[in-house]
Amino acid sequence: MKKKLRIIKRFCQRIYGEWLPKREKPRVLQMPITSRCNSCCVTCNVWKHHDRKDIDATLLKEALKDPFFSEVQSVGINGGEFSLVPNLIAVLDALTSLPRLESIYLITNGIATEKIKEHTKSAKSFCSAHGISVTLCISLDGVGYVHDTIRGIPGNFEKTMQLIQDITKEKDKYCDNLVIGHTLSRFNIDKVHEVEDYLSPFGLALDIHLAVPNKRIGTYTDHDRYNILADDKSRQIAAEYFYSRFLYENNLTAKARFFANYYYLKNKGKGRLSNCLYRYRDVTIDENLNLRLCATAGKSLGNLEKESASTIINSNSTKKEAKRLLKECDNCIHYAYYPLTTKGRWLFAREVAKQQYSMTIYKCSSGKQRLKVSISALNKVIKMVVKYDY
Ligand code: SF4
Ligand code: SF4
Repeated sequence: MKKKLRIIKRFCQRIYGEWLPKREKPRVLQMPITSRCNSCCVTCNVWKHHDRKDIDATLLKEALKDPFFSEVQSVGINGGEFSLVPNLIAVLDALTSLPRLESIYLITNGIATEKIKEHTKSAKSFCSAHGISVTLCISLDGVGYVHDTIRGIPGNFEKTMQLIQDITKEKDKYCDNLVIGHTLSRFNIDKVHEVEDYLSPFGLALDIHLAVPNKRIGTYTDHDRYNILADDKSRQIAAEYFYSRFLYENNLTAKARFFANYYYLKNKGKGRLSNCLYRYRDVTIDENLNLRLCATAGKSLGNLEKESASTIINSNSTKKEAKRLLKECDNCIHYAYYPLTTKGRWLFAREVAKQQYSMTIYKCSSGKQRLKVSISALNKVIKMVVKYDY
């Protein structure tokens, strides 16, 4: 009974947050800690446009003492390329200002393999000593030349595979969890099954997501080159891929995520079905200590060297920016792993019901039997809608 009440309470909180978003303290911080990168990805302009800048760890440590950050549990560290930051441990030390920090998530491009291993090993040892878990995500966008072409670095695929093997052999030295990040773009969508097939002997978790326009990496107005929405054939292949993953996936949370991607593609880049907690809770701090809501479409709200996070967040300009951002969300599929919205839950449940029950209902010999089966199906679907992400 208690569990049921908890599920219903959480469900109501989510609905409330979705319909009447009210700013909460962040639980997740996204932190691109450097604009330096040794890759030349076709899906990114960081390596072309930005100054080469690392975050200032001393200023960061001070900034994170602000009570606004007191509930942060998880920090995503990316860049640029985190392994190029010489004082990574000082940055991690700055994170110890966060009283509730439980985990960090590091993303690497797998190029400078020895540096990555050295930095990751030190990070793991530092974090373990502070009770913080480490997830390492290695990016892999294709097999062989596909990956090298997207990354713009010949030989990157071989190095990345070597890194994956080295880390898998002694995983505990480097991280608690190892994930492979796979970004889908026009350059690899027609080979979408290759990475999965290639990696299947390793038994690694694969995080598949669409390449999206992103203000911070300078691709917000310059994304047609790689964006799957830019040509109908790529969009169609991607929509079919996500629908087939939705059909055959048994884990309900993953199934919902595939469905949200499928729906967005089917509707030509409109109709976001996953909630996004960057709308009213989580935030981003970039390498210049600018505070943003999300990294995708969010503008800088202010600089943490000059003002405290609490001051910035409570300002009128932040309220205006939050309102402006809401208008962008329907066209954005970033962070599609968040739980579905109410509309998303309904559409998802209807599609699952269609998939699971339509043939049984069709085969019913009488109207009475059809009604009985339909009510039972409806009952199961409602339960699923309420608790799928628990
Ligand atoms: S996507 Fe990542 S690895 Fe590639 S250029 Fe941008 S920051 Fe570097
Ligand atoms: S624009 Fe995208 S990432 Fe930003 S808050 Fe909206 S849904 Fe989230």
